Amino acid sequence: MDCRWTADAIIIGGGIIGCATGYYLTKKGLKVYLFEKEYLTAGSTGRCIGGIRQQYSTELSIKVAMESVKKFKIMKEELGMDVEFEQDGYLFLAHSEEKEKTYKQLIKLQRNMGLDVEYVDVPAIKEIVPGINTDGLLGGAYCPSDGQANPFLVVDGYARKIKEKGKVFTYCGIEKINIEGNKVISVTTINKENYFAPIVVNATGPFIREFSKHIGLDIPVFPERHESLITEPIEVFFKPMVVDYRPDGCYFHQKAKQGSIIGCYTPIPNVPGNDVRSSFEFIIEMGRRMARLIPKLADVKIIRQWAGSYEMTPDGNPIVDKTDIEGLWIIGGFCGHGFMLGPEIGYIAAEYITTGKPPYDISEFALKRDYSRKEVMK
Ligand SMILES: Cc1cc2nc3c(=O)[nH]c(=O)nc-3n(C[C@H](O)[C@H](O)[C@H](O)COP(=O)(O)OP(=O)(O)OC[C@H]3O[C@@H](n4cnc5c(N)ncnc54)[C@H](O)[C@@H]3O)c2cc1C
Repeated sequence: MDCRWTADAIIIGGGIIGCATGYYLTKKGLKVYLFEKEYLTAGSTGRCIGGIRQQYSTELSIKVAMESVKKFKIMKEELGMDVEFEQDGYLFLAHSEEKEKTYKQLIKLQRNMGLDVEYVDVPAIKEIVPGINTDGLLGGAYCPSDGQANPFLVVDGYARKIKEKGKVFTYCGIEKINIEGNKVISVTTINKENYFAPIVVNATGPFIREFSKHIGLDIPVFPERHESLITEPIEVFFKPMVVDYRPDGCYFHQKAKQGSIIGCYTPIPNVPGNDVRSSFEFIIEMGRRMARLIPKLADVKIIRQWAGSYEMTPDGNPIVDKTDIEGLWIIGGFCGHGFMLGPEIGYIAAEYITTGKPPYDISEFALKRDYSRKEVMK
């Protein structure tokens, strides 16, 4: 390592993306310094519900998600800790012919890529989710190898590995990225300390647009509030994430070991901004929507609610790219899917950063792209 440098690479942001990228860079032999302004998982990652799915609408997203699942599968051995990964499936419900048609079309593409997804009819759904309300239900897209894991444990596992060679600083926000002659050279912390590295990765999640302004970059990532809740534990009676994408629908799954039900809905209209205050309206409305879908949930107690930010891009795809400033990388904008895609994104980013080439074509995730095409499975 050049003696000017404090580290081989500096990562800003201690969520899944910063930690996964830091881990894969460490695995490639780099000394990584990661800076987090609060505690690890303080951003969106610690507010997510841990869902992991592979049912997407483009070849690239399906591939990234499938590769991510492979990485979740071996995480226990790789990180030396159990991250509570379970392959309990995802079930997307179709309550309209239009949704049915979309799911059936996408299943063809997904199956061609080797995904174990199928269209299931209403009797099959009643077996998968006993007690489900089948009013207006036509069928669903079911993928048993989708699943869930614990975001706190995954981040902790990656951070421990980064620390074996480098350092993880918490409560140590980065105030600015320093550039000399169009090359990144260092970062300055809120304590006015400088740390030098030839590579800086901006993985600040929902803060990415705001934070990037001081270096003249306008990154199209727009935070949006999403709320969640968790219930008391009850006897486990269904496994998959049940996704009801009707405008007044919701999605939730039962935690495989512990029995709590955890879920969210996407508010209409969206609530823009990095606002992580939870609302009374959500807790009432979410309870109503869950009980509509599975009536016996009406008696289950909600024990906690919280809010976090989705980090939205105009087309629903993330940004994984270098910038025009040499050595500066942007990885963000996961539109509510960053946890599940995180392991593979960390791997792709580390390959791209160290070799100058991603392991496969990720031009759909380029910073300078046409943002008009939309991901359908959202
Ligand atoms: C309610 C909810 C449910 C969700 N459910 C799922 C799900 O089931 N599955 C899924 O895959 N995804 C889910 N998501 C989305 C997922 O949480 C995000 O896509 C993912 O966590 C983004 O990770 P990140 O590392 O990019 O961002 P973050 O986790 O937000 O990490 C960025 C970090 O950067 C830090 N930071 C910001 N500025 C600075 C600075 N200047 N200096 C130092 N540090 C800084 C922040 O404190 C933060 O910790 C959900 C999100 C929400 C809100």
